[in-house]
Amino acid sequence: MSYPYQNRRIQEKSCADAEQGSVYWSFEKSIWFSSMFIIFLIFGPMTISVSAVLLFFIFTAFTLCFGHSLGMHRLFIHKSYSCPKWLEYFLVHLGVLVGLAGPFGMLRTHDLRDWAQRQNNCHDYFGHQQPIFTDGFWQIHCDIRLDKTPQINIEPDYFDDPVYQWMEKYWMWQQLPWTVGFYLVGGLPWVVWGICARVAVSIIGHWLIGYFAHNQGHRHYHVKNAAIQGYNIPFTALITMGENWHNNHHAFSGSAKLGIESNEWDPGWWMLMAMKKIGLVSDIKLPSELPERSDLVTLSGDSRQR
Ligand SMILES: [Zn+2]
Ligand SMILES: [Zn+2]
Repeated sequence: MSYPYQNRRIQEKSCADAEQGSVYWSFEKSIWFSSMFIIFLIFGPMTISVSAVLLFFIFTAFTLCFGHSLGMHRLFIHKSYSCPKWLEYFLVHLGVLVGLAGPFGMLRTHDLRDWAQRQNNCHDYFGHQQPIFTDGFWQIHCDIRLDKTPQINIEPDYFDDPVYQWMEKYWMWQQLPWTVGFYLVGGLPWVVWGICARVAVSIIGHWLIGYFAHNQGHRHYHVKNAAIQGYNIPFTALITMGENWHNNHHAFSGSAKLGIESNEWDPGWWMLMAMKKIGLVSDIKLPSELPERSDLVTLSGDSRQR
């Protein structure tokens, strides 16, 4: 039997509406990003050194790959593979370090957007449909309040978990032990580049890839009746750790592998395979194991490009 994709955390209420709502300036998001960005702008040039820039690249790649992509997205949100609890906590913590939100905040934002994009119509905020700079301001400094919002039910094994509750409450403070550690080893340059520059660049990068992955690129699949389609952006595979295969993700959200075809590089998947080799992860889900969807159309020829 085939059936359309459904988000298991959102119970469809007939009155929920993904289109009508208002975008408002978010004090928390805006001040957090602006502080990191301004510190980087002022102190970045003064403190630049080989070791600080190396730390920036290595720790950004590490937190994006193991934290954001493997921890927060493929594991915590989509449960596309399993691992021991201590490793799950560590990977989600690394995901929080990227600096976007706490675990519950990430989950709610992701699932609400995901749900909205699959409705017949949705607000421009969810689909990144405004011109690029308006969208940048919206995504980095603002939030949305829907007039009729669906209820998102976070599963009890997350919601009642004191570790996740703590991570959510103190998500910004999780930078602190790393800040102290970097300061002790490399002084101020390591703090500016390893924390502030990294968080500012990660937030901007996350928005940019989200913008392009919902506006232009390459598609293998079309989701019927969805307001917004996802696009693959091939040349960004290495810097996004495989999150660039967003058309594939819209089609097979529960798959741990995002670069599905053999020429689609997916660094997150490579690391997952390495962790599997040493026995750290199991129960890895692939597109072929997911329930069939009646709303998914495989594209060919010109219809693949936009
Ligand atoms: Zn999407
Ligand atoms: Zn997702």
